[in-house]
Amino acid sequence: MRKSAVIALAVAAAVPAVNAQEGQGVVGSAAANAAYSCNPATCVPPACFCPSPNPPGGLPPQKIPQFMTLTFDDSINSVVLPIIMNITQSHHNNPNGCPLAATFFVSAQFSDYWNVQTMYGLGHEIATHTWTHLNTPPGPVEINSAIETINTFGGIPKSELKGFRHPFLLYTNGSIANVAASKLLYDSSMSLDYTSFPTWPFTLDNGVPFVCDAIDCPTQPYKNPGLWEIPLYNLRANPNNSLNAAMDPNPIPPAITANEADILTVLKYNFLNRYNSTRLPMGLYIHAGLYTLFVLNALAVPEPAI
Ligand SMILES: [Zn+2]
Repeated sequence: MRKSAVIALAVAAAVPAVNAQEGQGVVGSAAANAAYSCNPATCVPPACFCPSPNPPGGLPPQKIPQFMTLTFDDSINSVVLPIIMNITQSHHNNPNGCPLAATFFVSAQFSDYWNVQTMYGLGHEIATHTWTHLNTPPGPVEINSAIETINTFGGIPKSELKGFRHPFLLYTNGSIANVAASKLLYDSSMSLDYTSFPTWPFTLDNGVPFVCDAIDCPTQPYKNPGLWEIPLYNLRANPNNSLNAAMDPNPIPPAITANEADILTVLKYNFLNRYNSTRLPMGLYIHAGLYTLFVLNALAVPEPAI
């Protein structure tokens, strides 16, 4: 990735309540795939990496940072940019002084490329999320036309467009192969419960090590050498420890109303689970558009004050 998105826990306090949307229903149990095997003696970094609960290079967890990824999906335009900037351009920095860096999975349609270029110029990673954001596994045209458009109108070098996320997290054997054929470095679409199958990101040289929990699962082994998978790590809800969605997390189910304190409780619980044990990466996967929806709904009631 262009920039590592290592952020402080303090940013969690800036995450307000959200509603369900894309990816919300994908909560993976992540049972191990019995047919899978990977030999670390032959699958050697950086070209190949076997799934592992341990940090790369044999480093002890206490010697590495608690990595966190902050991602935003869908089009970038003047509607969502102020919400995004409120988080990414906050006054919080990483402990080493570096500003927060996010990854934007940009759907090309409805994006304002001045805004895309602005976020790239601020040091964030621009990745792809198809052209039209259809609710079907993407073919080569959807992937490649997004790359061409973001390159042409956003001025982002193709060599910097390294990542891909499937719309609605709908992936198949064929669509993963399409991502690999587009010469992208990584996919980030597979929802994974970090407690039942803890693993760092891995390459798909030997297929997928856990049972697929997507809506439309591949039926055949899909081996794509050199293509990395950066899972969307599900969250766990405190105090009942039930599975929570990876994207746009709920408060503790089955609560209907979310508030900032509920969300913060869930995020802190998951952060400390990792920080005090394996330091497995954690992610905040956000749709800024949801915040807009929330604001519009709030404005619909009598006498709002926002
Ligand atoms: Zn999307």
